[in-house]
Amino acid sequence: MRLTPGRSFGPIAYGGSWLALALLPFAPETGLFLRSSSDIKYFGPICYYEGIVSFLLLAPALLLPRILSRAWVIVVGGGMGLATLTVGFYAACFGARWNLTAHAAMMQTNRNQAREFMMNFASPGVLAWMALLAAGFAAGIVVNVRSTPPRGGVRLGVTLLGAAASAYGIGHAIHYGGVVVRRVWLSPTRSITTVEPSYNKFHPVTLLAMSHYNYRATHQFYLKQYRDVARHRQELAGARPIPGAVCPRLIVVVIGESANRLHWSLYGYPKRTTPRLDAEAGELEVFSDVICTWAATIISIRDMLTTTEDAVPSFPLFSQAGYTTHWFSAQFNQGGGDLELNAMVLSCNQRMYLNGVYDENLEPLVARVVAAPGKQMIFAQLFGSHVRYLDRYPTRFNVFHAADDGGPLRSSYDNSILYTDTVLTDLIEMLRKRHESSCLFYVSDHGEDVLDSRPDKYLFRDESLATDPMYEVPCFVWFSPEYRRENAAFVAAVAAARNRKYQNRALYQALLDLARLRHPLYNPRDSLLSPDFVERLRRVGVMGRVYRGAPTPAVYGH
Ligand SMILES: [Zn+2]
Repeated sequence: MRLTPGRSFGPIAYGGSWLALALLPFAPETGLFLRSSSDIKYFGPICYYEGIVSFLLLAPALLLPRILSRAWVIVVGGGMGLATLTVGFYAACFGARWNLTAHAAMMQTNRNQAREFMMNFASPGVLAWMALLAAGFAAGIVVNVRSTPPRGGVRLGVTLLGAAASAYGIGHAIHYGGVVVRRVWLSPTRSITTVEPSYNKFHPVTLLAMSHYNYRATHQFYLKQYRDVARHRQELAGARPIPGAVCPRLIVVVIGESANRLHWSLYGYPKRTTPRLDAEAGELEVFSDVICTWAATIISIRDMLTTTEDAVPSFPLFSQAGYTTHWFSAQFNQGGGDLELNAMVLSCNQRMYLNGVYDENLEPLVARVVAAPGKQMIFAQLFGSHVRYLDRYPTRFNVFHAADDGGPLRSSYDNSILYTDTVLTDLIEMLRKRHESSCLFYVSDHGEDVLDSRPDKYLFRDESLATDPMYEVPCFVWFSPEYRRENAAFVAAVAAARNRKYQNRALYQALLDLARLRHPLYNPRDSLLSPDFVERLRRVGVMGRVYRGAPTPAVYGH
């Protein structure tokens, strides 16, 4: 027989390469179990079900005619490789399993953010591991298509054996598998059916497919709500000033990025990371115990600024009460109106994205608006402390160095906080100079665990790890002297609420209080700033762990 390029290896090589392609997807889960052996008892069942998925994906290659079999191995083996690299990269970086939040972040991240993310997390070790996995898949595919398959009888026998083992496992999963699909209520009127992760969905291909299905289902619901905001205009109209209160002319809401309050000297961090705010602390009402709902930008901001009932953006509450609303973001415009944050803010009167510049570039935009006549409400989304930290501040803020405690990662994070301190105090100064009724509210979208829980390990943020620092955010409000004078009783009530246990959901309720407005949707029990606020049990992470963290009292002022 003539040796053609397609016949370079024998049946043993064929079998070995087939098996390698089936087993390589086990790598991410194996890596997770090697890191933490506490739930080792699940490793066996997970491998069994991963084996079933791999078998079902690769079985057609055993039965198809050779030319189709080769095409099958290239396409399906390649797909398995890409899925394994995606899930494996996440597992190697964070020590956590791929989940819906990770999927949403991947789907809503543009090329610039992805590049920064890779540069931040792709250590030489992780890259070497990824290269090894990729090489494994490539070798498996090349050897398989260039080898002579075993005789038809052998292949049929293997297929029948695999089919029997799979049928047993699938039957077992159906019998004992618990919840496979679950109904999730997104609003009182709308539910979606989600696919729940269980053993049989930890294979990278099924894990990604399941996350994608769940992501699409929720994402489409929210996009529809945002696009339909016009339909809800009527129910958001009619906010009126509280009798006897004076609505401020200027409201600035600054949404921070990835700032964890444990790194703020305003909250007692030993490094002077917020010297300018520390100096002005006497004029700030600093909240000691605010946490976010999710350690992810889009979900956190959605929970703050859309209605609890139906996820309708709350901006028209204010614009229909006489405020011109502005969304200024130092972050990237995700474009097209198809991505959630971009779609969510479409009902702001003015929207502007600065696409990854330093945060100080927001200041001229804010300055122009505060100088304009009429009531103005500005939402300023910082780039704050988004990874990579050292890209977030100009070199003159390179104050903390690697030689300080915690190494270069912690130092660059702290420098980004130092820079945020300057931007925030610049904005306050801008308002103060106006000598009119104004206020500035600041809260970060979520925290980040920058060597806080484990000094030896950078945990970043992940909903399955869900450590406290991923949720503990800085939060304060500054009132101009004019605002304080005109709304003295309210300001006193806010000062009394500083140690309140709050989870940042329905922030628009507190913003109605700040604007001194009342509306049928207003519910004081949900407002951080209302004397009638009701504390609730706070849960964090995908497992809904009850948050029991300690407050971090402000050490300056009061
Ligand atoms: Zn964020």
